[in-house]
Amino acid sequence: MSYFYGPVPSRRLGFSLGVDLIPKKTCTLDCLYCQLGCSEKKTMKRFFYVDMRKFTQELKEITKTNPKIDYITISGSGEPTLHKSLDKIIHAIKRIVKNKYPVCVITNSSLLYRKDVRNELKAADLIIPSLDAATSGTFRRINRPHKAVVFKKLVKGIISLRKEFKGKIWLEIMLLAGVNDTIAELEKFREIVENINPDKVQLNLPVRPCSFKLSGPSPKKLERIVEIINNNAEIVAGVSNLKNRAKVSKDLAREILTFLKRRPATLDDLVISLAARPRDISKELNFLLDKGVLRKQNNHFTIND
Ligand code: SF4
Repeated sequence: MSYFYGPVPSRRLGFSLGVDLIPKKTCTLDCLYCQLGCSEKKTMKRFFYVDMRKFTQELKEITKTNPKIDYITISGSGEPTLHKSLDKIIHAIKRIVKNKYPVCVITNSSLLYRKDVRNELKAADLIIPSLDAATSGTFRRINRPHKAVVFKKLVKGIISLRKEFKGKIWLEIMLLAGVNDTIAELEKFREIVENINPDKVQLNLPVRPCSFKLSGPSPKKLERIVEIINNNAEIVAGVSNLKNRAKVSKDLAREILTFLKRRPATLDDLVISLAARPRDISKELNFLLDKGVLRKQNNHFTIND
């Protein structure tokens, strides 16, 4: 399988079948917290990357056993709106799965200033745009954008999306201690969030391994942040209470590697997603660590480059 991964347990979306449309780290930004590592190569050029025949075959194969899926989520290893004609992909997904599963798109918001991109996204059911800064300086510091990305246009793009899109919008804010959690920044966030008027505000924390030493605000500070930004904001917590519903794997090491190619994971993530016993997963992980195929950082396993 090359375009899909999972279903994986998602902190927000239950069991999510991930869709990865574009080559690794093809992105308009280079965020400090990116799990895919640093890259100076950023792009604003949109391409049609997917081989639709292969894409269709893979999705049919995955869904023929009726796996538990709460969302089909277009995100993956870069910025999905860099894929041209995203509406064609979303319509194809819905046709293949006969509208059985809702489609979510997770975007870094940088191309939402473009009317064509917003129009293509109308085919989705849920959009999760991110906004990690309330000022241009903080945006450049956290998201290290391509020179053509303009912060004010990005914010206007999210506001326009809100006006035009009929589905749900959950605005995601990654909080980095000492970077975007000053009172001045938070008050500007409140203003912007009010202007956007999303269905939900989700505050995320840098819990996955990345190239920099980052941390989220303390629990006490988080309470204050919720009060300032939006009283209904949710703090995205770890995966919990998900029943073990994914299909059983026969070749555990291969399944683990396929999963970790997409994103780092904890032992718990793997246990839930691969529906295997913790001791079996631990055994395979130790074997792969010993062989130098994997490394472990902050409780997350990731593939060695
Ligand atoms: S937008 Fe996503 S893929 Fe792009 S650099 Fe940021 S975290 Fe990485």
